[in-house]
Amino acid sequence: PVVTRFAPSPTGYLHIGGARTALFNWLYARGRGGKFLLRIEDTDRARFTPEATQAILDGLTWLGLDWDGDAVSQFESADRHAAVAHEMLAAGTAYKCFASQDEIEAFREAARADGRSTLFRSPWRDVPESEHPDAPFAIRIKAPQDGDITIQDAVQGDVTWKADALDDMVLLRSDGSPVYMLAVVVDDHDMGVTHVIRGDDHLANAARQSMIYTAMGWDLPVFAHIPLIHGPDGKKLSKRHGALGVMEYAAMGYTPAGMRNYLARLGWSHGDDEVFTTEQALEWFDLGGIGKAPARLDFKKMENINRHQIGMSDSETMVRDVQDYLAAVDQPVLSADAAKAFANAFDKLDVTDKTLGDLLAKFAFVLDKPPFTLDEKAEKLLDPVSRGILTQLTPQLQTASWNREALEQTVMEFAEAQDLKFGKLAGPLRVVLSGRAVSPSVFDMMMIIGRDETLARLAHVVG
Ligand code: GLU
Repeated sequence: PVVTRFAPSPTGYLHIGGARTALFNWLYARGRGGKFLLRIEDTDRARFTPEATQAILDGLTWLGLDWDGDAVSQFESADRHAAVAHEMLAAGTAYKCFASQDEIEAFREAARADGRSTLFRSPWRDVPESEHPDAPFAIRIKAPQDGDITIQDAVQGDVTWKADALDDMVLLRSDGSPVYMLAVVVDDHDMGVTHVIRGDDHLANAARQSMIYTAMGWDLPVFAHIPLIHGPDGKKLSKRHGALGVMEYAAMGYTPAGMRNYLARLGWSHGDDEVFTTEQALEWFDLGGIGKAPARLDFKKMENINRHQIGMSDSETMVRDVQDYLAAVDQPVLSADAAKAFANAFDKLDVTDKTLGDLLAKFAFVLDKPPFTLDEKAEKLLDPVSRGILTQLTPQLQTASWNREALEQTVMEFAEAQDLKFGKLAGPLRVVLSGRAVSPSVFDMMMIIGRDETLARLAHVVG
């Protein structure tokens, strides 16, 4: 069975590149009935905070990427990592190195002066135990010194390093703490990870990591190193290209489905398919479809896909997306009815609507409160005759049950009884509810702002 993992270092937010890595791992595992695991690489204690971990969990949750079991802390397995270093020592695939930092520095200085490689070659590699001093030591891997190290990568193909370009890396520091590279391998092995899909900034690490697998006699996972994401200008992604955190996109009104679709297409393709459902992505996703060239962020495409996904989403999803969006922009969350009314109104997508923000802007009055400043046209609609009509309508609304059909019926029946065209009534009512002469359906608005607020807004203008 396939087991993948996402192994973020907690930096305080879920980066868009990390989100894509997580998505690829999730799609690969879930599409094959496998497991998707989450490991927080929190060994750098100086930088670690619980909030930073939470931010990543929140980002993944928003994106709809669920993981199996609990998120695992890498730091908590430090003893196990150290134990593996000692196993390697006992097996002779690692050795004790007593070189001090000063000695290592001196070695490098001398090498630099002579124009030789500054890779540290420990003099302790072949010194027998009987000649060891009683002093603190680091544990180093006994790396192959000649020949090649080749990684078979599902994206990059075979990638080869000369063994003499790699040093005997430290596995366990002299203070007993394991290095990151060892922790990753031990964790991946212990978690049963079969496929390591991650950014190609870790490709060189894979060469070193493979030595640990080999030394321990463990099966190598399938490696798939994906090219990093670049900005629209083809340069390495940075803050100057705009938002980097997924929750920033949430606050811009991108939906989780829109983001999933866009991120899936960022560096992976399936023929000419641009807009597809997550179910389709699960069915189609494969490592063979990952490109070798860095993908570029394309905000136009992101908007377009988002718009299509909003149009495709069912009302239940839309209700949740609207609530999540409001939370992301620090607006009060709506009642279930109001959110449903929003979702309903979104059936009528305009071509200019790319984000939830665009859509909600049309309903900005929900977030505003009267008194409204009326423009001339709105002012005119609210003439004394209209005010009189609204005064008569108010008690009808007070007793109506608050659902769209009942409201529609109440207003229509009232118009009929008064021998009024519906427009004559809807115009002034629209102004009362929204402060505008042009707005979405009055019934949608009444559902969105709810009974109390509708009656309160009417009370502002009727006597
Ligand atoms: N913690 C690493 C990162 O956030 C990922 C390590 C890995 O996937 O092996 O870049």
